[in-house]
Amino acid sequence: MMMSHIKIVRIPILPMYMVNAHLIVGPDGCILVDAGVPGSEHKIERALAKERLTFKDIKLIVVTHAHVDHAGSAAVLREKSGAPILAHEGDAKHFSRETPMTFCPTGWVSRLFIKTPFIFQPYVPFEADIQVTRQSVISLDRYGIPGKIRHTPGHTAGSISVELESNQALVGDLVASGILLGGLSEPHVRYVRLLKMTLTWLRVN
Ligand SMILES: [Zn+2]
Repeated sequence: MMMSHIKIVRIPILPMYMVNAHLIVGPDGCILVDAGVPGSEHKIERALAKERLTFKDIKLIVVTHAHVDHAGSAAVLREKSGAPILAHEGDAKHFSRETPMTFCPTGWVSRLFIKTPFIFQPYVPFEADIQVTRQSVISLDRYGIPGKIRHTPGHTAGSISVELESNQALVGDLVASGILLGGLSEPHVRYVRLLKMTLTWLRVN
């Protein structure tokens, strides 16, 4: 599959790029990576419209982890699009709101974010339709996107990342709070640095 057919659209959810969702637009529709805070569906609808797409063109909703700024509108968007939600089992009890989510602010962005009212918003609970288990890697080929979903725990137990064959990566949050949990090995830290670089690339494209 030609990578030139893939376009990544950033959807700013909060000002100053504190929180973003992304659309990966392929030839047969698109994948939404993260769903923003509750009420983000209008912003996402506008971003879709700019690409001449509607909610119905969303083939998959990837929720990178259970924090409200990434999972907040997932249930509503599933209803509007009919697309399945893909998420990791490690955060399942948070998606269903059985267990309250914790925050571990390590960078200035998250310290700022934790001061906003958004963080305390409850969101509509949901269960993932496609649950990523343990270390399993999920191919996105069937959605027309050459790439994979990989488990990248650290920020939360169930954090996942999207890696495209073009070596671009989309991760929910780069704050490596896993360091505080003692969960990051040195190669993992290098990996996070690489992801930061690719995200910077995404910002200018
Ligand atoms: Zn987070």
